[in-house]
Amino acid sequence: MFDNKENTSLDKLGEFGLIDLITKSVEIKEPSTVKGIGDDAAVINHTDKRVLVSTDLLLEGIHFDLRYVPLKHLGYKAVQVNLSDIYAMNGIATQITFSIGLSSKFPLEAVEEIYAGAILACKKYHVDLIGGDTSASKQGLVISVTSLGHALAEDITYRNGAQEGDLICVSGDLGGAYVGLQLLEREKQIFLENPNIQPDLEGKDYIVERQLKPEARLDIVKLLQDIAVRPTAMIDISDGLASDILHICKQSNKGCKLYEDKIPIDQMTYDTAREFGLDPTVCALNGGEDYELLFTIKQADYDKIKGDVDITVIGHITAESEGHHLITKAGNMHQIKAQGWNAFG
Ligand code: ADP
Ligand code: MG
Repeated sequence: MFDNKENTSLDKLGEFGLIDLITKSVEIKEPSTVKGIGDDAAVINHTDKRVLVSTDLLLEGIHFDLRYVPLKHLGYKAVQVNLSDIYAMNGIATQITFSIGLSSKFPLEAVEEIYAGAILACKKYHVDLIGGDTSASKQGLVISVTSLGHALAEDITYRNGAQEGDLICVSGDLGGAYVGLQLLEREKQIFLENPNIQPDLEGKDYIVERQLKPEARLDIVKLLQDIAVRPTAMIDISDGLASDILHICKQSNKGCKLYEDKIPIDQMTYDTAREFGLDPTVCALNGGEDYELLFTIKQADYDKIKGDVDITVIGHITAESEGHHLITKAGNMHQIKAQGWNAFG
């Protein structure tokens, strides 16, 4: 993978040399960061706000495949998926810690790529990198990201707040990340069979980016604040629409009706899914990794969101006894089942 790059062995640098190198381009900008990298702990001051904390662990071979994920994208995505959890609470992320375990196959240049991606994500989302941990790993790459953020107590949106009659909304479009993954998997297979064939991803930028370089929806959190809509419940779509709406319903003790014809699916996602013989709706329901926000709002708030092209109403919350259903384009009713990704599957 690093054939054409310089290869600086990490042994020579040592842990502290490595930490110095990877953190030298880190800048502190957030007013709430009192102390960043360099002491035994970072110090944060969120004064009158509630503090939000979320953490993710990413293991090579389980959560990512370095045969098609560039390291810079990996660093970027590791940060994005974690920030997405803070936004899903209707909060603003302000700091992250970023920890890595490195096996001997990784030279310094690889670590620099990962951090370039992570730091780019931090800059773009106005988040300070305030610490982390560095270790050798026996096998493969390990990344763990922890995000911190804040919100006013009354603005925090939990999964359990959905009420009967609330509208179910989703940002952006769904299924793209999964179809992008199918494309990358196919090209990987072709490459494994014949390394001389270059990947053919021409014209598929959007869905490949949806998979490799997702963008957490800070813009939606800000928009909802601007138009004074406080969702009654919210979650980010990491496992797929089906699994994630069920999380909201279960925790809120409610049922739901989703309408297939309302689910936003990008044209390229749709066409490429078809090329693979996949049902685009199934990709949206079960694909996951879209990192869009799924939230419920009071019907009274409909007028405030109806003009926004980036928010789609896809159904409504019902009584729990009515179950969890998708109304298909043909008008049939299907029970929604969680087919989210299972790490132990
Ligand atoms: P400790 O021995 O207390 O764990 P370290 O030597 O691991 O301290 O870390 C020293 C400083 O460098 C701390 O502020 C820590 O948060 C930061 N740090 C260590 N590894 C990383 C990393 N991979 N990314 C960012 N900051 C790091
Ligand atoms: Mg340490």
